[in-house]
Amino acid sequence: MNRRKSEELYDQAVALIPGGVNSPVRAFLSVGGKPFYVDHAKGPCLFDVDGNTYLDFVSSWGAIILGHADAGLVREAQAAVMDGTSFGACHPYEPVLARMIVDAFPSMEMVRLTSSGTEATMSAVRLTRGATGRAGVIKFRGCYHGHVDSLLVKAGSGLATYGVPDSEGIPADLAKHTLVADFNHIDTVWRIVKDRKDIACLIMEPLMGNMGLVLPGETFLQDVRDLCDRHGILLVFDEVITGFRVAYGGAQEMYGVRPDLTCLGKIIGGGFPIGAFGGSRALMEKLAPLGGVYQAGTLSGNPVAVRAGIYTLTRLKEEMPYDLLRARLERLGNGVSEAAREEGVAYTINSATAMFTGFFNDRDVVDYETAVSSDRRLYEAFFKAMLDEGIFFAPSQYEAAFLTLAHDDGVVEKTVETFRRVFRKIKNS
Ligand SMILES: *Cc1c(COP(=O)(O)O)cnc(C)c1O
Repeated sequence: MNRRKSEELYDQAVALIPGGVNSPVRAFLSVGGKPFYVDHAKGPCLFDVDGNTYLDFVSSWGAIILGHADAGLVREAQAAVMDGTSFGACHPYEPVLARMIVDAFPSMEMVRLTSSGTEATMSAVRLTRGATGRAGVIKFRGCYHGHVDSLLVKAGSGLATYGVPDSEGIPADLAKHTLVADFNHIDTVWRIVKDRKDIACLIMEPLMGNMGLVLPGETFLQDVRDLCDRHGILLVFDEVITGFRVAYGGAQEMYGVRPDLTCLGKIIGGGFPIGAFGGSRALMEKLAPLGGVYQAGTLSGNPVAVRAGIYTLTRLKEEMPYDLLRARLERLGNGVSEAAREEGVAYTINSATAMFTGFFNDRDVVDYETAVSSDRRLYEAFFKAMLDEGIFFAPSQYEAAFLTLAHDDGVVEKTVETFRRVFRKIKNS
């Protein structure tokens, strides 16, 4: 596969942009090689500047669910742009999207929009601190909540891949307020709250998506909910990935556990920059301008992002594609598992509706320990072989893959066949 133009662009970019990328996970450092440069995208595919086509399982890290450049979404976004790209003033689409979100998530009575998931989690944590008058935050090792100072502690994917436990530039005085527990090990949360009475919130991805996909054990979310209630700790679900992806009402609908605050992002902007956080009226009215917790954003509620979000959620609500997506992913998972067995490759798949991770691991992956015990060297060979076959998975073992509505039966079939060829090729590497 010729990637000459991409390589030239990358060489130009690395001189100007740190690592050549505007977000570290886009670099191919952990798998080797240089990233390709996208010319355009359509349906389930990316097309690079050298004319190569890739079946895309990154799907803008989960932000895309209708498929790339969906015709209706493009029309809506074009219409929005024609009406002006930003007002810095109220517009009629804001309460429409807010209504769709609170209708989908019964745990939310009110919601505020931001321009990224990071802003949503940062603001949610601040709100819990303001509401409780406490400073401490509990998070789970391997969960990623954006690049918020106090949440960049033991934070999954990009960081797990590069083996950087904490970011530089975060004062120890701040990091000391972040306590780290282990997902699917409720005893590690008990151990923290036994000694600390100053915990404002526990923030978690209800399905861990940033260590590769790890599902909560049967009672885990309810156990966390109960523990938080007993100690007056506010529970924050970071559903930036899972909201409108694993079910219309996110993981909290799927598992029947209600958090105090929910963070959203990715899908709700239809591919435009967005985030949101929300909860009960009593809690949300503590935000400025009503309350004393300050939170703001020049482009928050941006009309293009909001209209693209409304379009996306409207389609999802009308089509309710979650059973269809789950059935397709099940077919894909079964086919790939069978191929792995027949080729003698240790490969275990975790999946939820329209997201999955295949771990090169002979054990079930149920927590941080088992996730990091996966064979990263084999993943590197897999990533490269897949890319050469025209299928794009994330350049890290510790990421989820995402289906869109454009990943149809034909895509599933082609993907399974390619997995078989790639397993055969890499098993002795
Ligand atoms: C992507 C992500 C974020 C951060 O969202 P950005 O829009 O990248 O700032 C937060 N939480 C989770 C679970 C995410 O996957």
